[in-house]
Amino acid sequence: MIVFDSVCKHYGTFQVLNNCSATINKGEIVVICGPSGSGKSTLIKCVNGLETFDSGQITVDGTRLHDPATHLPDLRRRIGMVFQGFELFQHLTVLQNVMIAQRVVLHRNKAEAHERAMLLLQRVGLADHAAKYPVALSGGQQQRVAIARALAIDPVAILFDEPTSALDPEMVAEVLAVMTELAQAGMTMMCVTHEMGFARQVANRVIFMDRGEFVDDLPAADFFDGRCSDRAGTFLKRIL
Ligand code: ATP
Ligand code: MG
Repeated sequence: MIVFDSVCKHYGTFQVLNNCSATINKGEIVVICGPSGSGKSTLIKCVNGLETFDSGQITVDGTRLHDPATHLPDLRRRIGMVFQGFELFQHLTVLQNVMIAQRVVLHRNKAEAHERAMLLLQRVGLADHAAKYPVALSGGQQQRVAIARALAIDPVAILFDEPTSALDPEMVAEVLAVMTELAQAGMTMMCVTHEMGFARQVANRVIFMDRGEFVDDLPAADFFDGRCSDRAGTFLKRIL
């Protein structure tokens, strides 16, 4: 589904991605963790073309990113993205936030987009809030709207970049519950997070990044049961 083949990227002389290779299969949940500055956000952004890379290849659902024949906007509209800061359209209602990409990108008619949006808002437990503006919602609710919005384009995969790290602790669980439900429904997910409880329970694999490298790529059970690298072990001790 998502294949990284020797991906390298520099910012000037600084190497932010160093020969990254991994395969994320359909329906897999892969958690990416690692110290601040290790390249996690850069990696995620490369997958949907928000960042470019220097060499190697990333293939998403059979489409190669470094290929002149690939039309990036077409690829992007097949990948959902959920950010740390929600990034909802503040001037649109919750319902309109979940409808807009369906209307503009997929050219669904209004009735169809409305129906799909309401279904997704129900799924994330926010159908009652459809007419509100984002400012009237809690952070956890806004992030659930962002997940509904990401789902609205029927993506082949969803990328999450620290979806709970801007939330008050009491709201983290409601967002993780929605993500767990998505995982159980078979969505392919790449998730940068330091929520190790979620990683242990929901992820199939954990990739530990350090200084732009994939240091570990292990089944979650192995990663947490002490079969990770010393670097990952030190990192885990620090955050747990
Ligand atoms: P965090 O956990 O803090 O979010 P991260 O693992 O997501 O960190 P990145 O945001 O991918 O790390 O950044 C990796 C490195 O690349 C950092 O050292 C950062 O300073 C550097 N970097 C990121 N974006 C740019 C840029 N546009 N120009 C130059 N350097 C950058
Ligand atoms: Mg980051």
